[in-house]
Amino acid sequence: MPDKKWVYAFDEVGEAEEAVNGSWDAVRGLLGGKGANLGEMTRLGVPVPPGFTVTTEACNAYVSGDGSFPEGMWDQVTAALAKVEEKTGKKFGDAANPLLVSCRSGAKFSMPGMMDTVLNIGLNDEVVEGLAALTNDARFAYDSYRRLIQMFGSVVLGAADEGFEEVLTEAREAAGVTDDAHLSVDALKQIVVRFKEIAEDFPETPIDQLRLATEAVFKSWSGKRAVDYRNAAGIPHDLGTAVNVQTMVFGNMGEDSATGVAMSRDGSTGENSIEGDWLVNAQGEDVVAGIRATKPIAQLADEMPDVYQQFSDICHRLENHYREMQDLEFTVERGKLWLLQTRDGKRTAQAAVRIAVELVEQGLISKEEAVQRVTPEQIDFFLHPQLEAASRAAATAEGNLIATGLNVSPGAAVGVIAFDADKAVAMADAGDKVILVRPETKPDDVHGMLAAEGIVTSRGGRTSHAALVARQFGKPAVVGIAALDIDLSARTMEIDGKVIAEGDWLSIDGTLGEVYHGKIDTVVPDISDRWLSSLLDWADEFRRLGIRANADYPIDAERARTYGAEGIGLCRTEHMFFEAERLPIVQRMIMTEDADERRQALDELLPYQRQDFYGLFKAMDGLPVIIRLIDPPLHEFLPSFEDLTVEIADLRVAIATGEGDAAAQQAEIDEKEKVRDRVEVLRETNPMLGLRGVRLGIIIPDLPRMQVRAIFEAACAAQKEGTKVIPEVMIPLSSNVNELRRLKAVLTEEAKAVMGEQGVEVEYMMGTMVETPRAALTAGQMAEEAEFFSFGTNDLTQTTYAISRDDAEAGFLMEYIEQGILPENPFASIDPDGVGRLIKLAVKEGRETRPDLEVGICGEHGGDPKSIALCHGYGLDYVSCSPFRVPVARLAAAQAALKDKN
Ligand code: ADP
Ligand code: MG
Ligand code: MG
Repeated sequence: MPDKKWVYAFDEVGEAEEAVNGSWDAVRGLLGGKGANLGEMTRLGVPVPPGFTVTTEACNAYVSGDGSFPEGMWDQVTAALAKVEEKTGKKFGDAANPLLVSCRSGAKFSMPGMMDTVLNIGLNDEVVEGLAALTNDARFAYDSYRRLIQMFGSVVLGAADEGFEEVLTEAREAAGVTDDAHLSVDALKQIVVRFKEIAEDFPETPIDQLRLATEAVFKSWSGKRAVDYRNAAGIPHDLGTAVNVQTMVFGNMGEDSATGVAMSRDGSTGENSIEGDWLVNAQGEDVVAGIRATKPIAQLADEMPDVYQQFSDICHRLENHYREMQDLEFTVERGKLWLLQTRDGKRTAQAAVRIAVELVEQGLISKEEAVQRVTPEQIDFFLHPQLEAASRAAATAEGNLIATGLNVSPGAAVGVIAFDADKAVAMADAGDKVILVRPETKPDDVHGMLAAEGIVTSRGGRTSHAALVARQFGKPAVVGIAALDIDLSARTMEIDGKVIAEGDWLSIDGTLGEVYHGKIDTVVPDISDRWLSSLLDWADEFRRLGIRANADYPIDAERARTYGAEGIGLCRTEHMFFEAERLPIVQRMIMTEDADERRQALDELLPYQRQDFYGLFKAMDGLPVIIRLIDPPLHEFLPSFEDLTVEIADLRVAIATGEGDAAAQQAEIDEKEKVRDRVEVLRETNPMLGLRGVRLGIIIPDLPRMQVRAIFEAACAAQKEGTKVIPEVMIPLSSNVNELRRLKAVLTEEAKAVMGEQGVEVEYMMGTMVETPRAALTAGQMAEEAEFFSFGTNDLTQTTYAISRDDAEAGFLMEYIEQGILPENPFASIDPDGVGRLIKLAVKEGRETRPDLEVGICGEHGGDPKSIALCHGYGLDYVSCSPFRVPVARLAAAQAALKDKN
């Protein structure tokens, strides 16, 4: 393909756009993110040093071919270089007036493992002399030259960094200076000689330097680190990287020169003010390398006011153009400002929300865009502790941000390092907060992961055991930090030469994937934050799904309401039976086989239940409340058969050895034996599939009848006080319409009786939880009785897969996911092909029978963004989730609706 265009000058970005039919995303694909934005800035008239981009297509042709540049590419490079010479009035390789360039990699997405930038290409023994004469600054010229040999040597030729550093250290010691900037010209000349001994194959011919650097960028795409990262992060391997060749500008030309990086807004808080760091008389990576103490950007305004004004104008222009916060690199050469990079800036969750909202307020983006720009995970972040901004910034400034890995489980965690699971448990038991650090985790490590606040691993990707388990249990985690070297026998870890021991403090940000050495303060962000409230209010305008909460207690119901819940989707009534003062009554009710005695026990429970429901109705004034009738098997309320047996045996031993009061002990034995006999009767091989849910109500109708009486007495009382109550009575675990028919008749009769007694009419519904495949498959029949369905997707997933969740998650499930047998945990995200189809079918056939059937979901999936999107598609009326997930669900539901519209 000799005619193919492999090279675009920065001022040809319009042509690149035409070549890919106008989509900016495709321009980024072709030129890489860095190249596309350099072109775009050039088009906008922002001062960018001239240069050109070799396309990602050229990279792909190179790596998939025989290791040579595609036909025509190099000719286009030299032609583009000639144009740059024309623009700058300088000549590449010409000692009299040399053009120097940088060679910069840049893929569509910025990613680790790509080749580091090489600066000052074009210098050799002859050109350096010319540069010295031209600038009248031999120190500058030789410093630039030694940097080129050092970068070229380590980055392109693969020489070890340490060799160069040793030479520099020796030179500084010999000269008695602490800073490279104070080395004399002669010292620098000697350094150049010694550097060349290390970088043996350093090419003297400038065009060879450029060719080898370009080739090295292409090769870095297939380097191990890059491939591993792409595998872990799920980035396709066929994107390729572009190469940017750009005229050098120098921030190290004296006191009127500088270099820096800045964000157009504060990346931690989102505040609309420029934030950044810069250095006088420095080049490129000096700022990020942390060798010299940087100055805050505000100081640029004092020291170089004109430059700052210009820079600030450019920040605003670029923000307005990209309609997004920007992260910029700049250099000032002898008082003239140049921009070297711009891209969308990284930010914390808090900043993401504030920036999105303020961009709307500035009229730059629509509310719809704002709602789509923030991720549900970022909203989730507001509900968990996070690293406090100032403390985080201080840690970064001190160089304590030691690594960035894959952000697999959000939230912040701070603790001391433990290198194995047992140690983590021991330390946690001793009262320490622990971060578990492992090369990778295995099922044997789960106890340690549970004991830890957060998890860090050096290996593994987004679906590694560590990532899956961490997400499952809500533990912040950062995995796949390849540069982290853990020495389990020495109980230390090493990263970038820094050695950190077990017991040292570590702070991790699982949302950004950052790991800090040391202890950073945490804060729980404010959910009533004005920007979050605005964003969620907008989300509410767009979503179609209703959002309810699963709440058992009035206090949870109130919280859910303040978070924006529009009703209770699930109130479990079991807890009411477990509370200390009620349990003895419950046990009496279960122990007796006499109907009168049972009714008496139930009568005693009634006031408790009434009080529980009354509180919920009051809290949810005007909103629907779904109350699920008792679900678990009765033996759960009694002591276990095994415990009783041991206790009885102990008592017998005591009597035999004459310890204590034998008569009292015998009485106790008799009592326990009675309980054990009953447990024996109630005991089931497989309680999950036994006498529970609706079946319990069929066998002991007095039990749910008491609950319904309590519900309606509470409802009538609240309504009399002017509270608007909407009870929805939910029958669990049904699989046959006859179960509903029978129980609903009993319960309706009771409800009507109460309303008659109280002289109040309450608006109510009776429905069922759909959590067995048969209930879903016979939804048309079920809807003859049920006025609403609520998908209990935890049980529905268990019964569809014939997998016990607890057993599976502690056992083989993670293995299944790691091996790719299951794409993800079906208990975390609805399985669309199995469980999802049952839901779809049940919604359709249920509504055919009863067009106004109310349909929702109350399993834990109701708080999972992916599942929420599915529920939107299934046409559900609402999702119900834990109160803490309500804000997340509001945003996810809005995003699903907006995606639908587009
Ligand atoms: P990275 O992707 O690691 O940021 P860059 O290609 O952006 O790599 O470059 C590293 C550093 O070198 C940055 O500070 C950048 O501004 C600087 N730099 C790159 N090209 C030039 C150039 N032509 N002139 C001056 N500085 C440059
Ligand atoms: Mg880089
Ligand atoms: Mg950069």
